[in-house]
Amino acid sequence: MPSAPAQLAFIGLDTVRHAVTTDRAEEHPVPGTVTSGPEPDLAAYDLIVAGLSGKDAHAMLDRLTDQARRAGVFDRLFTVHADMGLMEWPSVHHHGQDYPSNRELVAQTALHYGIPADRHIETHRVVTDPDGTRRAQSLLEQAAMWRKFPDAARRWCTSDSKVDKIRAALTPLVRHHRRQLGRPVRILNVTGVRAEESTKRATRPTYSVGYANAHRQQDEYLPVHHLGTADVHAIVDGSGLAHHWAYDSEPGARDWGGMSRLSCSICIMSNKADLILAVRRRPRLAALYAEVEHAIDHAFKLTMPMSRILELAEEPGGPEPGVVLAEDGPEFAALEAAVRAQLAEPVRLRASTDFTTVPPGCLSCTAC
Ligand code: SF4
Repeated sequence: MPSAPAQLAFIGLDTVRHAVTTDRAEEHPVPGTVTSGPEPDLAAYDLIVAGLSGKDAHAMLDRLTDQARRAGVFDRLFTVHADMGLMEWPSVHHHGQDYPSNRELVAQTALHYGIPADRHIETHRVVTDPDGTRRAQSLLEQAAMWRKFPDAARRWCTSDSKVDKIRAALTPLVRHHRRQLGRPVRILNVTGVRAEESTKRATRPTYSVGYANAHRQQDEYLPVHHLGTADVHAIVDGSGLAHHWAYDSEPGARDWGGMSRLSCSICIMSNKADLILAVRRRPRLAALYAEVEHAIDHAFKLTMPMSRILELAEEPGGPEPGVVLAEDGPEFAALEAAVRAQLAEPVRLRASTDFTTVPPGCLSCTAC
């Protein structure tokens, strides 16, 4: 089997970045993980795919790159980031310094750990307009289109924009390996999920079966599942690479006094403090969420509608923003225009079954 970089050269990076089809063969059960024991033998996998976004994934990559080098399979390791566009924390200029966006920092993190650019995969949700223009489509535009926000039980934001896109992006690699190997490709999907995050995540095994079909057998590995938040901070701070500015009380503070989680700035799964901080930092984005919420008459979050979050953000107390983003550029104007265009269209009903559920064993948000 040729080395991973040689395969990418064969496939072409553009193909990896823009692949939109996937091997939707019927899934079937498998008796167990590729290797036995509580931890995987990395050498038994053809592809090792690390999903990156946020501090937990950074700590995971720190551990995983070490393990992959010791196992002699570093060249099988890929990093992947499902970019959510302006829903994610953007770059900021603060007190004369530039701080990267989440997407930029993720790419820097991969490079920092020795993953070459041709093994770092970015995916985006892309749609084609009636005039043939291909463009990224945001979660907020989807909510406007379907007149519904996602929620914990219907997390189509994750399935549409992350799980499906990452699975599709891997398809060229999987097809190539499948031809070479003559058997399903063994993929180890590695994420930064931690037990401390929720009672549901606490029940997840460190190493488990994901899914299998005629083309792939995917197992799941959570190498930092047991770590506490302080451990993660220590690993990230000790890595020599700055963490994302949104985690801090203000860009450059390096104090972990800001957001507790990353990925979408205003996330349906966020806690109250994170939501108040996010809307104080991104008032224009918050106003657009509120506009959609009002227009579609569906709460951004049932227990915490955006209208209520905005009220709370106006009250004294709670987290200080540290920085307030102007969001007055053409990119944000395009987001507003796309969202308002969807609100002006007739409702597009989304079938309740028309989304991939987010099973525990999938390439999903590590930050949500
Ligand atoms: S970060 Fe939150 S809002 Fe964004 S895709 Fe994940 S669950 Fe959905």
